[in-house]
Amino acid sequence: MNNKNKRLYNSIRFNSVIGNILVSILFIIFFVGTFVFASGFFIEYIIESKFAEEQERISTISKMYEEGKDSKDIKRILDASDTSFIVVDSKDKVVYQNGENTCGANGKYITMDNGSEQMFVYPDTKADYLYPKDNGSLGFKFKEFSNKLVELYNDGDIYFSLTSEEVHSFNLNTSEEDEGVVVSYYKNEKAEKAIEDIKVPIWISIDLEDGNRFIGKALLSINIRDVILAFEILIAFLAFVILYIIIIVIITIFSAVNQNRIKKLFYKDMSTDAYNWMWFVVKGNKTLRKGINAKNNYAVVNLEFKNYRNYCLCHSIKEGDKLLSRMNKEINKHLNSREMCAHATTANFALLMKYDDTDQLQMRIHEIIKALNDLEKDHEFTFKAGVAVLESEDIFKVGKEASRKRRKNVNIENVYNNASAAKVTIDDVDGAEIRIFDKKLFEEQQWTDFVHEKQWQALKGEEFLVYYQPKYDPKTNNLNGAEALIRWQSPEAGFITPGRFIPIFEKNGFITEIDHYMISHVARDQKNWLDQGMRCVPISVNVSRAHFVESDLAEQIVKMVDDEGCPHNLIEIELTESAFFDDKNAMIETIRKLKNYGFSVSMDDFGAGYSSLNSLKDMPLDVLKLDADFFRGENAGERGEKVVSEAIKLAKILEMRTVAEGVEEKEQVEFLKDQGCDLIQGYYFAKPMPKSEFLERIDQWQNWRVTEE
Ligand code: C2E
Ligand code: MG
Ligand code: MG
Repeated sequence: MNNKNKRLYNSIRFNSVIGNILVSILFIIFFVGTFVFASGFFIEYIIESKFAEEQERISTISKMYEEGKDSKDIKRILDASDTSFIVVDSKDKVVYQNGENTCGANGKYITMDNGSEQMFVYPDTKADYLYPKDNGSLGFKFKEFSNKLVELYNDGDIYFSLTSEEVHSFNLNTSEEDEGVVVSYYKNEKAEKAIEDIKVPIWISIDLEDGNRFIGKALLSINIRDVILAFEILIAFLAFVILYIIIIVIITIFSAVNQNRIKKLFYKDMSTDAYNWMWFVVKGNKTLRKGINAKNNYAVVNLEFKNYRNYCLCHSIKEGDKLLSRMNKEINKHLNSREMCAHATTANFALLMKYDDTDQLQMRIHEIIKALNDLEKDHEFTFKAGVAVLESEDIFKVGKEASRKRRKNVNIENVYNNASAAKVTIDDVDGAEIRIFDKKLFEEQQWTDFVHEKQWQALKGEEFLVYYQPKYDPKTNNLNGAEALIRWQSPEAGFITPGRFIPIFEKNGFITEIDHYMISHVARDQKNWLDQGMRCVPISVNVSRAHFVESDLAEQIVKMVDDEGCPHNLIEIELTESAFFDDKNAMIETIRKLKNYGFSVSMDDFGAGYSSLNSLKDMPLDVLKLDADFFRGENAGERGEKVVSEAIKLAKILEMRTVAEGVEEKEQVEFLKDQGCDLIQGYYFAKPMPKSEFLERIDQWQNWRVTEE
């Protein structure tokens, strides 16, 4: 699968669901954090303000006590108040007590958050919640109380000069008697509210001027309204969080649905509704690499429906796709869990199958093919299946354990390529349906990789050698020409004949480099030999059909030969017969140009493939090279001789010279001589040989030196 696609898919996947979830989690963490932080501040503020309030109240009473401790009346007032307090001396002995003494033993300093206030407090031993009981017994809740105290009357009423907002939980009755204000307090509406307040007792210590300490019982009232407010905020917060979670869940569900749609787009083939190649690669790799699957043998199958094109031609592409869709369903019926089928390319299905042994696997594939054939009774379909198995020690040359480990790195695309390579070797004529990728194919593939890897190094390092195979005139037995044939002397692989690497170069395009290399080397040799005063014969060089797509081929050849300073008439260009079918007009044009430049042009391997006699008449060729097959196997004999004889006649009519290739027998030479064949290139006279030997040959067979040394 294309890496770009993979990245795109992963990013969409991430953005849709995982992204949502991540953002939500982050948001919730942020939100809860902020809430806890803010509410902490809020609660602290409320508690501190309560503390401050109570400290002020106790401090006021302590001042009252201090100022009027010798006055009976004050004491009476203080005793009447419901604020319990004790006065202790420097040894913590209680010297005065009002109300119940429930002051705890272990006091400690507490500091207000703003750092300004520090107070010494004791816990309450009972710590029960106190509530106001009845009219007139409400605790003092005055601010700046002591400063305002002026007079006291025996009847129990207190006269104050009141200046400000004073208290909230009292009704104030003012009277104009004397200079003060009469305060009578009783439970009123607000005080009722205060009943609901929660009061937490704590004893606050105030230092007196005489060295004693006044420890008064404070009641930290937590106002119910504060609690309600906090509760309301909490509820609002929870409601918000729940709403947010609901929204996120909805969004996540939607994006999951969307992701499924996207997955379908990515993983399904719209025309056949089958899973596609991308799905096969992603899921297949996952399946194979899973630890639990390592003990199972798996095989990847490339199943090709060979009649797809014809079927589409007869019906329509739409019908063809419908058939593929039905085939996909049929194949899936034959697969078990953890087996897979995908529509890989046009007429190819990719299958991942489990198997116990290869015979059983082949039987299953045959069954699938049979079922597919039964889909349409009116048609006779053919299928080809290439199989690559994953546990074969033959292939990987490793032990079972090692092979299992390899599973972790296995790439299903490569395994499928092996299966396809096996499929390609199925010969159309032998009727076979299934081929398993085996050791031989594996070695072939390794060889191809090796050639591919080494080609440039070989070219630059002059590892390619030019061998020459002489051509003889059967009438005179004179050496009248030669063909340049490539060999590869590889430091790693040894001496290699062209049959093993030329087809690979033809496939990977490196053949054009080889053709250039050969033309340049032959031209250089010819030029050297000429310079040495030797009589040179024309030497033919093979030019691959891949080269003929280049419109300036003739110019390229001229340049290469001219660069070496070699006369054009000493070079002959061999074109393979199959190349004549590609673009006839371009071919004719190139041949014309080459001839105009003074090169001879020959048609190689005439008769080997699908000869078109018709093309011969249009091609202004100089030489016809009869393929070696005429003189071998089934083609040899009387009928073969007749064909050869007629081909030579035809060539003569078209004013072409003839060269017979692959001639090994004396009789063949005699026959060709009688038919008027111009030259013979074959083992009978000479095999392809290195340059040095070729020079000896020239010397040996003919006294061809133009000048005596
Ligand atoms: P080709 O161009 O048809 O070359 C003739 C092949 O027949 C050569 O095989 C030669 O060794 C072989 N041959 C000649 N006489 C006999 C004989 O009497 N008996 C037998 N058994 N074989 C004979 P070679 O050298 O292995 O080359 C094979 C093919 O590789 C060539 O067929 C040609 O198509 C290709 N090739 C070789 N060198 C080059 C090259 O430099 N460039 C290109 N493009 N192709 C090349
Ligand atoms: Mg040739
Ligand atoms: Mg040939």
